[in-house]
Amino acid sequence: MISRRHFLATGSLAAAAVALRPRTLFAQETLAPILVQFRKAGIDAKIQTQALRGKVSALIGSGGNIAVLTGADGKVIIDSGMSTSKPQISEALAGLSGDPVKHLINTHWHFDHTDGNEWMHGAGAAIMAHENTKKRLSTPQTMEIVQATFPAAPAGAIPTETFTEKKTLHLNGEELHLVHYAPAHTDTDIYIYFEKADVLHIADTWFNGNYPLIDYSSGGNINGMIAAADRSLKVAGAKTIIIPGHGNVGDKEQLTKYRDMLVDCRDSVAALKKQGKTKDEVVAAKPTAKYDAAWGGGLINPAAFTGLVYQGV
Ligand SMILES: [Zn+2]
Repeated sequence: MISRRHFLATGSLAAAAVALRPRTLFAQETLAPILVQFRKAGIDAKIQTQALRGKVSALIGSGGNIAVLTGADGKVIIDSGMSTSKPQISEALAGLSGDPVKHLINTHWHFDHTDGNEWMHGAGAAIMAHENTKKRLSTPQTMEIVQATFPAAPAGAIPTETFTEKKTLHLNGEELHLVHYAPAHTDTDIYIYFEKADVLHIADTWFNGNYPLIDYSSGGNINGMIAAADRSLKVAGAKTIIIPGHGNVGDKEQLTKYRDMLVDCRDSVAALKKQGKTKDEVVAAKPTAKYDAAWGGGLINPAAFTGLVYQGV
């Protein structure tokens, strides 16, 4: 997980994102401050290895949560973390098994899930993702919520294989189901379900324990986030281990609580907007107040989350 200090630092950035600066300030040559900040954090990031079930583990601590499936067909890695964490991630991968790195799957295009793509590809991994992930990584992208523009990813970081709706892979005795969500956190989101291990990686459609970032600049929206949670809940059973993009590994019960919180906040904000209230007025009314202590301490603070919901209802 990103450190608390880091969350607080970026939280103020997200809050400030309400007032957008003109695009001319987003020179492509200048790296986005948030990218610089995450790469810096990645240098010293401690990677925690969490054995989940069967041959599936989670590596937590650099960018989004990484999952790894080991076996004779080579390691299958879900998301690549920050590039600056290469030494620690390599060590954690070596600690799991001696299988070579062969397959990398990106859950979506965001930098905190794809920044390590280039070195993993260099280490031998083919990169698979939804076709929209390839499109977005191939061209400069703006994320209004963090006031940042990202240059196109280097050639070695671009997915080498893409799909549109779903793809099934048979690797290491496991059946992996890769399925595209309708636009939710972005328009590039997929889930990966390890059927035998009964482990489901749902990436940034779930921030476990925090209000989620919804990237409207990449096609995301609050109703899509709710629909994605509903879809994940249909895939998950009572014993399914569910990996969020950020936060602790969880289960169906926790995901259900998150989904219900999203629905309640969406409905409260929509009712106020329907009365003709402006975004500032709705934020001032604190419609998410009863959830703020539990969910509002992350990258997206209560005001930022209310604004994100307002934007989509
Ligand atoms: Zn994301």
